[in-house]
Amino acid sequence: MAKPHYEGYTTEKHTVLLRENFGSANVYAKNTQSILNQATGFINAYDFTLNPYRGCQYGCSYCYAAAFSPNSNMRQDWGNWVIIKQNAAELLQKELARWYPNNPDKLPRIYMSSVTDPYQPIESKEGLTRQLLEVMLEYAPILILVIQTRSPMITKDIDLLQRFKNLRINMSIPTGSEAVRKDFEPRSPSIKARLNAVQKIKQRIDPLKGYVPKLSITITPTLPTPLDEQEVFINQLKIADRVVIQEFHASSGRSLVASTREEALALKRKYAWWYDNEEKSYQQFKHKLASMLTDIQIMEGKEGFGYE
Ligand code: SF4
Repeated sequence: MAKPHYEGYTTEKHTVLLRENFGSANVYAKNTQSILNQATGFINAYDFTLNPYRGCQYGCSYCYAAAFSPNSNMRQDWGNWVIIKQNAAELLQKELARWYPNNPDKLPRIYMSSVTDPYQPIESKEGLTRQLLEVMLEYAPILILVIQTRSPMITKDIDLLQRFKNLRINMSIPTGSEAVRKDFEPRSPSIKARLNAVQKIKQRIDPLKGYVPKLSITITPTLPTPLDEQEVFINQLKIADRVVIQEFHASSGRSLVASTREEALALKRKYAWWYDNEEKSYQQFKHKLASMLTDIQIMEGKEGFGYE
């Protein structure tokens, strides 16, 4: 397979044919060699990660996935490009077919997605994530699946989601403050839209006709939520069955580290009231969660990203 060069991000002659714009993003397409990749590190409880796209139009300022960009120019321009893995559905079918003869007594555990958002804006045009769900339903209907997203667009696939017996949806909402969200992840959907999406999934699925998925809200990395907004936010989290928190370590060597991009660090300076004593801010928030959400699982870090 020829090494792809991405027009606009390299001076070399490009070998990838498709380049178009979608919103403000440059869109490329390529065939990939595998679509189920071994899950490691923070999510090593899973067998595979499944990333329909490479790159992410949400371009969150703290995103660690930027480090996996194809080249340094694209890393610098994180959020402004996306690569469609155009053979993803075909590959998934083949790779799932290989799993069962080798693992007759074990369900594959899949985490979708670890370095992209499967419901970023381009999905509304491409429907690639939807195609992957269709393949899973046909070839591995009782696999264990976790979908990690921050997009209300997931509700377009409720008809498919309700057919998965072992599904957890992790809706990412790192802060309860719209002002903070706009600073850290200005291109992402509003907090209200994400909460409404979780509510819609619960309401739309009739337990007599489909499976209601497990629903988590992942406050990860846990961004600042001003004191006067915390109570309202925490009450809104009651629609989930699990809440996951994770400290935001911009410079530590831990596995789930935020990007060290200057933008992210500048934001931390802006929110010094939280970050100057992050441990204390985080612990206070955690205690408030525990005292207000007595009927909901509250988990931290790696443990919270498990399926069970
Ligand atoms: S939505 Fe997720 S993958 Fe996309 S930029 Fe934000 S943190 Fe990264």
